[in-house]
Amino acid sequence: MELASSALESMTIFIVDGYISYSRLQIYDGSINGRSYEYDIVEWFDEVSENAGLVQRETLRRILEMNCEVEYLKKWLGGYKIKEMDACALESLYKSLVPLVSHADLEPYIQRIADGDTNPLLTHQRITTLSLRQKYVPFTRHSAQTTLQIFRLAAAYRSKVYPIKEGRRILEFIYSSNQFKTKGGLTAGTATTHYYASEEFKIKQEKTKSFTCSPEEVISGGDYKQSTYCHLLLGLYFSDQVEFITSTFAYSIVQAFTELEEIWKDICQDIKLGNLSSRITLPRMRQAVLEIISPNPHLASQIEVTCKKLESDLDWFGLVPTLWPNAKYVYSIMTGSMQPYSKRLRHYAGDLPLVSADYGSTESWIGANLDPCLPPDDVTFAVVPTFSYFEFIPIHRRKQDFSPVIDDFIEDEPVPLSQVKLGQEYEIVLTTFTGLYRYRLGDVVEVAGFHKGTPKLNFLCRRKLILTINIDKNTEKDLQIVVERGSQLLSKSARAELVDFTSHADSINQPGHYIIYWEIKGEAEEKVLRECCREMDASFVDHGYVVSRRTNSIGPLELCIVKKGTFKKILEHFIGNGAALSQFKTPRCTSNQVILRILNDWTVKRVRSTAYC
Ligand code: AMP
Repeated sequence: MELASSALESMTIFIVDGYISYSRLQIYDGSINGRSYEYDIVEWFDEVSENAGLVQRETLRRILEMNCEVEYLKKWLGGYKIKEMDACALESLYKSLVPLVSHADLEPYIQRIADGDTNPLLTHQRITTLSLRQKYVPFTRHSAQTTLQIFRLAAAYRSKVYPIKEGRRILEFIYSSNQFKTKGGLTAGTATTHYYASEEFKIKQEKTKSFTCSPEEVISGGDYKQSTYCHLLLGLYFSDQVEFITSTFAYSIVQAFTELEEIWKDICQDIKLGNLSSRITLPRMRQAVLEIISPNPHLASQIEVTCKKLESDLDWFGLVPTLWPNAKYVYSIMTGSMQPYSKRLRHYAGDLPLVSADYGSTESWIGANLDPCLPPDDVTFAVVPTFSYFEFIPIHRRKQDFSPVIDDFIEDEPVPLSQVKLGQEYEIVLTTFTGLYRYRLGDVVEVAGFHKGTPKLNFLCRRKLILTINIDKNTEKDLQIVVERGSQLLSKSARAELVDFTSHADSINQPGHYIIYWEIKGEAEEKVLRECCREMDASFVDHGYVVSRRTNSIGPLELCIVKKGTFKKILEHFIGNGAALSQFKTPRCTSNQVILRILNDWTVKRVRSTAYC
């Protein structure tokens, strides 16, 4: 008993250090007992993980204590003396009275905040910033602090395996989108945009003693093409100092290197003359970059020789270690919807390790990759139990169920973090410091192991079904597996490679059928494409799909090959509508009319599957 209570006391201190009082983070700063910062944060994490159940209860207690007077919680918990209850009783009360919700349920509150209602609606502390994740999501200082904390934790684990030199640089393909004011005067923008603008981002550079190659003016320029050019230019200008290459999602790195294949000559010219191409028109960005670079003809000619060779002999294989000889690894989110880009990333990275980055969302950070040397396919994320209060809805896939449901999972009652089971799949539910209470995130994860008492999660997919016409139900993951099969055949049978893909369930033309759009690099004969199409059609294992295909109530899969640059055009459409490149994820299924128009206008070849004939 005594042990438990002293553990709780020390845990409370840890929690406070972790997220409430920023200055207390200094405790991990190397000044304590001569221990290094990395050692301290790893030790801290071990302790909170060891006591994850307790820490979670305590985290919930703190969230509720701080916010029990807000309008939303009063609706459910009004009348209870929250501050007087112990954490255990509070946890059961909370779960029995507060309902599970989705964004739509909280939206009226968030909208009132956006419109300038200053009453405490979701949080006691006033919300002044909102993140955009299709909808508004509250963002507070706590959000930026946990971002800093997970970056430091993951960096500590990485440095054990891949130590980097202090005082050097990181080539970061990061982008802010424009921030704007809501009707009520709150600042709105993507979560990454807020983070790059925060104090915590500066602190991260100072504490980790690694500096991004690009100045703030490049990151926040607001024009992704100009920012990419400058990131590449400065990355190459500082090439011998770059310790690793990173972006939030792997897409941005692949996109940047694809761009480099086209623009390297201009970059060499700029490095040679200490000049900046006229394509950079934003005055602040121009000035900031010109202040950094000075003519370096020797470096320019070295890069030129290397790029010529990469282009003519190697199809850019091993671009990263060749151009950045001191880079130790490439670091980015490569799991989930980013998995299709890991092949191209692998190609660019040559034999450098690919390290998959952590798991989080605009709503909350969730878990850190503690095994940086594992390949992206095997990566898991250890939940950080101080970030939010996590619940897990056990879900089971329906087997041979033909009911016209919109989801293919059966659910059980949510369980707390301390009760999750190895091998079980769950949907994550969050209670956050930013005013989301029992909020269904919509991500499906599997418990793949444990780090002491905290689960290590394998990210499976977004829960929402993406392809469905009638009784068929396919998730993003199902589609990904099918496309992987088709693209393997493509690279085996033709000198071509899949660049990007999306899909659409066409239920207008009868019988309804799936369309998969591919952008490919290289050439493939129609015969090969037909084979790929057949292979994909036959690879959907969902019983509803198989039965429907056999009876022809779903027609043959259609594969459309789109022109080079189509997905870039789609990206530009989203960026034009306020998305930030740092958080961009190609939609794997779309019924958006603008996107479909782009896809159909740019389709150069269509083939239909012969499976099930
Ligand atoms: P956003 O809020 O736009 O940053 O996107 C967050 C979503 O991206 C999460 O809910 C996940 O679906 C996905 N995501 C984030 N991190 C990872 C990761 N490490 N692996 C796979 N998917 C991720």
